[in-house]
Amino acid sequence: MSVFKRKPGRTHPGRISGAAVHNLFSHPATIKYIGGKYTLDKRCRGLIKYDPLLCIGCGLCMKDCPTGAITIVNKGTKQDRDMHAYLDTGKCIFCGQCADTCPKKDIVVTSESDLSNFSRDGLKIEL
Ligand code: SF4
Ligand code: SF4
Repeated sequence: MSVFKRKPGRTHPGRISGAAVHNLFSHPATIKYIGGKYTLDKRCRGLIKYDPLLCIGCGLCMKDCPTGAITIVNKGTKQDRDMHAYLDTGKCIFCGQCADTCPKKDIVVTSESDLSNFSRDGLKIEL
């Protein structure tokens, strides 16, 4: 005797075969991680992009970043700037606050999301 009672209105188990056959011949819903091609919606927030030529080194992006993920460094002088931006993608939550804050609009949020790495240190990148 079965311990399970079929609820009224439940689909007959035999009907699942139709869905099984359909899924056998349809494309997979997932992609291969390495080498698989996918496109995220443009509205998705991913990696930020930085333009060192526009940056004035004010540091507001670092001040406003909620996770301390971004670091701006001037390797030049006050008069002759050589700006660099470093991002810890393991800390970044892709909120876009730095882009909103930047007075020169030299940080832009992109939909780039393939940021995984085998090591924790590999997550720290120069933009
Ligand atoms: S997107 Fe957000 S978390 Fe990432 S660096 Fe900018 S402010 Fe920080
Ligand atoms: S807020 Fe903009 S201009 Fe200021 S340091 Fe950050 S990236 Fe540069």
